[in-house]
Amino acid sequence: MAARRSLFGQLMTAAPCVRLLQTTPRHLTAAGRRGVATSAGACAYADTRTKTQAPWPRCATRPRQHRRQFSTPSSSAPSSIPPFAFAFDIDGVLLHVSEPIPGAAAALQHLHRLNIPFILLTNGGGRYEADRVADLQRRLGLDLESLEGDKNNTDTHDADCVGPLPVLSTANFVQSHTPFQELLDNVGGLDAADAGDQEGGSSSRSSSIDGLRDQTILVTGSDAARIRTIAEQYGFQSVITPADILAAYPAIYPFDPLLKSVYAETARPLPKPLLLEGGKLASHASAKPFSPSDLDSSKYLRIAAAFVFNDPRDWALDIQILTDVLQARRGFLGTFDPASLSAKGSEGGTRLFFSNSDLLWATTYHLPRFGQGAFAAAVAGVWAQMASKEQPSLLSPEGGRSTLLGKPHAATYRFAERTLLRYRASLLEAHGGSKAGSDTKEAQAPLKTVYMIGDNPESDIAGANQFCSAHGTDWCSVLVETGVYDPALDKSSSDYLRHRPRAIVGDVAAAVRWALQREGWPADF
Ligand SMILES: [Mg+2]
Repeated sequence: MAARRSLFGQLMTAAPCVRLLQTTPRHLTAAGRRGVATSAGACAYADTRTKTQAPWPRCATRPRQHRRQFSTPSSSAPSSIPPFAFAFDIDGVLLHVSEPIPGAAAALQHLHRLNIPFILLTNGGGRYEADRVADLQRRLGLDLESLEGDKNNTDTHDADCVGPLPVLSTANFVQSHTPFQELLDNVGGLDAADAGDQEGGSSSRSSSIDGLRDQTILVTGSDAARIRTIAEQYGFQSVITPADILAAYPAIYPFDPLLKSVYAETARPLPKPLLLEGGKLASHASAKPFSPSDLDSSKYLRIAAAFVFNDPRDWALDIQILTDVLQARRGFLGTFDPASLSAKGSEGGTRLFFSNSDLLWATTYHLPRFGQGAFAAAVAGVWAQMASKEQPSLLSPEGGRSTLLGKPHAATYRFAERTLLRYRASLLEAHGGSKAGSDTKEAQAPLKTVYMIGDNPESDIAGANQFCSAHGTDWCSVLVETGVYDPALDKSSSDYLRHRPRAIVGDVAAAVRWALQREGWPADF
């Protein structure tokens, strides 16, 4: 998979040289310094920090209450709980056009040996999480065989640090549509007011709020049939695709060649018929004038929510159907609610969820290609042409009809933090249960810092900088040069970076070393 990039990220730049832009912290131990010197190889530090470049030290100046000092370089896990963790983007950080970036696997394995929790946080999607994780394990060489090898290598590693948890699993993996699972039992699960921010579990309000598990949802994406399977694996019980609607009601989209050549093979029967509200052009025999008593979800199809999992292929069909959904009465596709187009808009209608808002992404073509963000903009643009000019944008929070996920949006960072906290708890139990159990306070130590390692300033860095953790956790942004960020453009234009990271380093290995040194933990890998 090629790396996604922002509007301004036009060129993929792979920098072989570590370039730390922050001064080496004075507290670093000899062990830490040796680790960096080894990692940097022939590249010397270039402290190019300036006042205009680096307004970051919210993290840098923060007092460290849990810092540890090590007298010798070691990969052994300290006997206490790290108050920090990591979140890694994938494309441009761990992989470059599906190939591993040097040092990425070693960095993850090093953290795993030290029981330092981390998650992968990507705007990619389109595959089931377990499948994507298995592919990543293979590409990065982090399969179980390699773990067993590490486990037996007691010369260099603390054997009891490698427990039953693999380096990567679905427990520490978040892709663009993973948060959709929060809506199974709580339709407001991704909203700030309803999000479950308690460590290790969802909101206490979740059980009292209806979810979407048993309601009909519409899904689309690059391969709607596969997307449907993913949604069903998540637990959604009634999942329909645009193909189902088109097959049942071909007149909804009068360009039939695609029905036979593309959609017929994947279409399933709709669970219920559409409620066809009358209209001047309605030709269906059952089209009739609207009656409020007709809004019966036991008789007619009601779409409770529509999900865009990844980049749709047939924009025209999908925009038509999503627009039909937006103007329907309370989600009853086939009806038309005049209020939906008014300045205020209608209430109780179908809500749209877009899994990421990347406008462009990098492929093997020499210029960036449209991403899901372009599709979302197209849907919103068509809707803006239909609705009152006074109505808020479909994609704005004020519009109240859509939710944007993926980095840099807060909903994704909230979900990521909850996932990280759950993973941290399971990691402590699996790898350090006895130690943690001997020191309850230590085991419950708050997570003070998450290092967000990314290559895209517009998503990874902006999201980390803007996110306000409900737990007071500091999300410290670290930008690498192996993806969409272009250091040459950054040097030539002071306007290049709208979202300034706390630090800029050459690659993911350097980023991990930088963070470990700041925390006073071993960085010798
Ligand atoms: Mg990236």
